[in-house]
Amino acid sequence: MQSRRHMVGSAAAACLGLLLALAPFGNAVHADEPVKAVATFSILGDLVKQVGGDRVEVSTLVGPDADAHGYNPAPGDARKLTAAHLVVVNGLGLEGWLDRLIKASGTKAPVIVATKGVNPIEGDDDHGGGGHAGHAHHDDPHAWQSIANVRIYIANIRDGLSKVDPGRAADYAANAKAYLATLDGLEADIRAAIAAIPPEHRKIITTHDAFGYFTAAYGLDFIAPQGVSTDSEASPKDVARIIRQIRRDKIPAVFLENVADPRLMQQISRESGATVGGKVYSDALSGSDGPAATYAAMMRSNIAAFSAALGKK
Ligand code: ZN
Repeated sequence: MQSRRHMVGSAAAACLGLLLALAPFGNAVHADEPVKAVATFSILGDLVKQVGGDRVEVSTLVGPDADAHGYNPAPGDARKLTAAHLVVVNGLGLEGWLDRLIKASGTKAPVIVATKGVNPIEGDDDHGGGGHAGHAHHDDPHAWQSIANVRIYIANIRDGLSKVDPGRAADYAANAKAYLATLDGLEADIRAAIAAIPPEHRKIITTHDAFGYFTAAYGLDFIAPQGVSTDSEASPKDVARIIRQIRRDKIPAVFLENVADPRLMQQISRESGATVGGKVYSDALSGSDGPAATYAAMMRSNIAAFSAALGKK
């Protein structure tokens, strides 16, 4: 970091572009240019924007309404990484496709793991028949579904930006602080919304198991025919089990996820009698004109859908 700061401050500004292109430490940030940050998926991209403000140019690899688990990188992705000053990833096994892409891009940008310091919960890759031997257990990557974890994301992003762009560290600290206040309000509203749902209705069916952290933090139960990744399809046995459970527990609603094929939930709805309770945003934001264009809007859109389908006291 020392040598990079000297380079930025040196009189050889005219040659800076060439020097930086050759620099072995990654791309240093010029005082007049925005930081180029790459986030692996849309939710993370918004969090980087919240901390970076107008100082940071954020591009994301997996875009709105797209599935970050089984992503096939596009040719432009390597170019984004090559040009980046900073790469921000979720970690916890979400981006299994990323290491190869980073190597192929040759980027020297530091890679920040936004979940560093998060207490992971264990996810079940395959719900199968319910706990028999042979299931693969992994960390559940969907840590952003708990506000407490997102506070950790924000701190990691703030520290990462401040390292590559120390001259603007005070701005990043101020933006992070303001956003933490937004998160406080959001968390209070989520708790109030869940508290207004009758306890016997606090069960929801989604396509894949993306809400384990939400359940742990806020006490709404999610049941999913697919595991914590979307890599494997739900088996007919899983689907039959869910339908039995919906009938037995009188679960009122199933939800379509924006990143999943809607047909499975439509079938479960038809065969179980549960209504389709609208769309939830699990692993990706909506487009900029949709109801979940930012992380905070996404969480509010989801709780509004849950409340509407599960009823108030
Ligand atoms: Zn997921």
